[in-house]
Amino acid sequence: MVRIDVERVREDTAGCERVAHLNNAGAALPPRPVVDAVVEHLRLEEEIGGYEAAAARAERIEHTYDALARLVGAAREDIAVMENATRAWDLAFYSLPWSAGDRILTARAEYASNAIAFLQTARRHGVQVDVVPDDEHGQLDVDALRRMVDDRVKLIAVTHVPTQGGLVNPAAEIGKVAREAGVVYLLDACQSVGQMPVDVREIGCDLLTAPGRKFLRGPRGTGFLYCSPRVRAQLEPPFLDLHAAEWTSGDSYRVREDARRFESWETFFAGKIGLGVAVDYALDLGLDAIEDRVTLLADALRHRLSALPGVRLHDRGVRQCGIVAFTVDGHDSHRVAEELRGQRINVSVSVAGSARWDFDARGLESVVRASVHYYNTDGEIDRLCAALLRP
Ligand SMILES: *Cc1c(COP(=O)(O)O)cnc(C)c1O
Repeated sequence: MVRIDVERVREDTAGCERVAHLNNAGAALPPRPVVDAVVEHLRLEEEIGGYEAAAARAERIEHTYDALARLVGAAREDIAVMENATRAWDLAFYSLPWSAGDRILTARAEYASNAIAFLQTARRHGVQVDVVPDDEHGQLDVDALRRMVDDRVKLIAVTHVPTQGGLVNPAAEIGKVAREAGVVYLLDACQSVGQMPVDVREIGCDLLTAPGRKFLRGPRGTGFLYCSPRVRAQLEPPFLDLHAAEWTSGDSYRVREDARRFESWETFFAGKIGLGVAVDYALDLGLDAIEDRVTLLADALRHRLSALPGVRLHDRGVRQCGIVAFTVDGHDSHRVAEELRGQRINVSVSVAGSARWDFDARGLESVVRASVHYYNTDGEIDRLCAALLRP
């Protein structure tokens, strides 16, 4: 097994000297090569001009598509680089030709922005949204999903790893059901990409979205969409510009063939380069090695937290990842996070409004979310647990 050289990756990460960063599900600390690449491009824009800098760095910009394609097991034509994961998801979702009576099958742990888009589409087009129940472990019940599929189902859209805890939904089993039924499958992989291997061929999804800033450790304001050639021709984006389509004559246009039909012309070039560097960094370490270390640290954190008085763990699922959700009896989650921040320990809070179907069903208002990455250490976990022990 290839191991991660923790000392080296911490040396690459300036933030490690200042904070115990356990908010990787919010935004991970970027490694130095990523920051350097972004800054260098901004400097070049300053020195020679924005268009000229893009031309001078065309190869590096194009490399980002190759890196992302390699990361998820796709072809470069299947990748669109976007300003965030939500817009990537939206552009895919709102491209589907909805009609009254269509059904969307989704999961209970679904992310708020996706659920809001389902509800808007239900209102606008008379589409029906059905939430597949969880199984006894709290992951999407694949047998129930199979039973719920019928001719009216136009989309299966689920979140791989929800924002609010350690659950890993059985993405590949869901993919089998989608393939058997010939239904389009959209996977929100915002919290899984970068912390574990995610391969669109193994999963069998048609569409997949993720941001740069979370477990990939890329720049903020970046994200991407994978769109398989299988579904691409059916998906005409709701917005088209002169990059997504070509104005071929006075009264006609042609949408481009590749996934860049979802992009717009103007973009954050420095960020796009930085995203590619972040993906290279992850691929160099190896996603298997990353997952091994993240799982090791998260398991240790859960074990330690479970021994603390008044601390309750809320992670569900057969397989659990680097996100650890907990509450402290008698203490408001926001206050807990604030107190920790004062001690240079970064965690975040997930609130009911970010995943209402899940929080409401479990009677939870909010949870503290500690999310580990491979550059975290046992010492940082000790610091978190010691801080929680103090009244
Ligand atoms: C963070 C997150 C998103 C949104 O990603 P952005 O890049 O902020 O748009 C979507 N889904 C899940 C599960 C997330 O955790």
